[in-house]
Amino acid sequence: MQSLFQEEAEAEAVSAQTRAVLVPYPVDKAYDYALADGVGAPDGAYVTVPLGSRQVPGVVWGAGANDVASAKIKPMVAEYDLPPLPGVHRKFLDWVAHYTMAPLGSVLKLTLSVPAALEPPAPAIGYDLAEGIEVDGLTPQRKRIAEILQTAPPLRAAELADMAGCTPGVVTGMAKKGLLKAVELYSSAPCRNPDTKRNGPVLSEVQESAANTLKDLVNEQSYSAALLDGVTGAGKTEVYFEAVAEALKQDKQVLILLPEIALSNAFLERFKDRFGCAPALWHSSLSPGRRKLTWRGVAEGESKVIIGARSALFLPFQDLGLIVVDEEHDPAYKQEDGVIYHARDMAVVRAHLGDIPIVLVSATPSLETMHNVWEGRYYHVQLPARHGGASLPDVHLIDLKSDSPESQHFIAPGLSKAVEDTIEQGGQVLLFLNRRGYAPLTLCRACGHRFECPRCTAWMVEHRRTGRLHCHHCDHYMRVPDACPACGEEDSLVACGPGVERISEEVKELFPEARACVLSSDTADTHDKLRAILDDIRDHKVDIIIGTQIIAKGHHFPKLTCVGVIDADLGLAGGDLRATERTYQLLHQVAGRAGRGEDPGHVYLQSFHPQSRVMQALASHDRDAFLGVEQEEREAAHMPPFSRLAAIIVSGRDEEQVALCARELGKCAPNGPGIQTVGPAEAPIYRLRGRYRRRLLVRADKKIDVQKAIAHWLSNIKTPSTIRIQIDIDPQSFL
Ligand code: ADP
Ligand code: ZN
Repeated sequence: MQSLFQEEAEAEAVSAQTRAVLVPYPVDKAYDYALADGVGAPDGAYVTVPLGSRQVPGVVWGAGANDVASAKIKPMVAEYDLPPLPGVHRKFLDWVAHYTMAPLGSVLKLTLSVPAALEPPAPAIGYDLAEGIEVDGLTPQRKRIAEILQTAPPLRAAELADMAGCTPGVVTGMAKKGLLKAVELYSSAPCRNPDTKRNGPVLSEVQESAANTLKDLVNEQSYSAALLDGVTGAGKTEVYFEAVAEALKQDKQVLILLPEIALSNAFLERFKDRFGCAPALWHSSLSPGRRKLTWRGVAEGESKVIIGARSALFLPFQDLGLIVVDEEHDPAYKQEDGVIYHARDMAVVRAHLGDIPIVLVSATPSLETMHNVWEGRYYHVQLPARHGGASLPDVHLIDLKSDSPESQHFIAPGLSKAVEDTIEQGGQVLLFLNRRGYAPLTLCRACGHRFECPRCTAWMVEHRRTGRLHCHHCDHYMRVPDACPACGEEDSLVACGPGVERISEEVKELFPEARACVLSSDTADTHDKLRAILDDIRDHKVDIIIGTQIIAKGHHFPKLTCVGVIDADLGLAGGDLRATERTYQLLHQVAGRAGRGEDPGHVYLQSFHPQSRVMQALASHDRDAFLGVEQEEREAAHMPPFSRLAAIIVSGRDEEQVALCARELGKCAPNGPGIQTVGPAEAPIYRLRGRYRRRLLVRADKKIDVQKAIAHWLSNIKTPSTIRIQIDIDPQSFL
């Protein structure tokens, strides 16, 4: 008896020495590791552990499960010198993994996105003036460098050379001679000391009252969700900056999420004006050095305000006190591959778990968010008018059935006249068409051959600028051939339909004197190019901007008084659940570019269906009535937000195998009270990058645990390793 007790006591002793460690790989749970010398490994600690033959980073996920024989348990290797990942963040990752049905380790990878940042930063070499150097006896170049260092702090060779107008070799040469001494320079985390005492603009009465509501919520230091709702130009940014300042006064960290495309310089300038320093940025084109610095700054709690695209939500915040989701309705918040998640929705969850406030911001809130407002779950903070009394633009509907453009042209006479008048009066025009390239479809006049991507169910889009046909799904491209590859006829290819390049051609023809530019992800493929074009527009070096949705967001051009939408019906095709809602949001956003200065704006929507509800709502600025009807329709159809959807996408390179596997899945799909599955059906993009795709769609009552139902379903089916099954909870795209 006694020996048995003793054994138990010994087992206990071993278990106290093991910890569960989660690694950032597609694993479902944390594995046990033994403590090693010098590794305390409290919960949340960043550690290195052996995995197979490698050593990988991981995070301590609590006590070990002790479900493996202790002889098999390997010791941890090392612990990083960083504050542990807070419990609330670990809980959040657990929650996201459960909800999205993604492997827990893959979700951790969203947080451990910069493994190099776990290492302490290596110093850069800077140069300072050595003691007792006589400046006067130096060559002119050396003298300049010495003079700079008499007042400036130590600088890197490249920086010094730049300031002195010489080559870095001069600097290192001076160091060799003992004129300069090398010192170690550490970059500091971005946005450490935002200044909350600076004054923002004087707020109007309504703005102030909105700001006070948000400030009160911040001061409650507990969970709340508010929708900050106001037309474009109402001053929403100024208002939520007040809430940000309030959270900073409590020495909390703040996260502002923005769609990547809206992370413009203009926005950063406004932040700097308000807080006296640049925010810490997080987006796809950060340099590796910046990325490391920012990640560490966030993990150590040094960086206070982080402005970033959706993935910033997963940064390892030490003490997050407020989340703002600007443009909350934006589809770009949905991550469509890897761990499939909706950053807005997950941000609300993060706020809830962390017991902190969240502010969702939009001029065109999503139906989901409005539904939450109407149900009383979110506060509704409204800014009813544009700041400074600027009025909303007049929206005119152009009926393409009666006011039709000439054949092979796309600008109706009514719009053309408005463009002419605007330019004559010294205004700027935006012609909006959400289609890159010259033409969406190219075909042969002789035999009817159409150019399709060899890897996707998609037409090749002609780009005249580059002389190529391009697939917008997989980036496959080819030169535009001189003859039809099917029938051999020369010069027989014709373009069907317009893209922005083709509109640009028509603009040159109609308004030869006007200065026009195309703004799309092709002409502005880097932040610098985008900035240059936006500057030209702001400086009125451009009369007519022909742009895709890249221009729709956030920009403020005082001279822009006329917006023409070439194809207002474009987003309505395809009939997806949110097609009308999205069309409303996008066109409202585009229309919001007009008349933000002193002169009133005019918007022209070219449509074949001017009587449709969405066009009428845009013309009458009656958003809530529109959303009200939209909500009724969703309720009648038992669609979200009145039910939940989950998509299952089966894909693979072998068409037969995909069909078979999807059919097998369909046979035992969840169907019963409160849950139905439709499909499998060919996905609208049936081939993508060479993979065949079939979809199933599960719809469930909100009280049903769909994750559980899906997990049970999929666990009963064996799928070959050549087949990929993706689960998309709350799908936004139905392609
Ligand atoms: P929204 O985010 O609602 O579209 P913004 O915050 O971008 O609106 O404000 C629109 C424009 O009006 C910006 O140029 C902003 O600087 C200006 N603005 C807003 N409120 C004020 C104010 N109280 N005083 C001065 N300018 C303001
Ligand atoms: Zn393709």
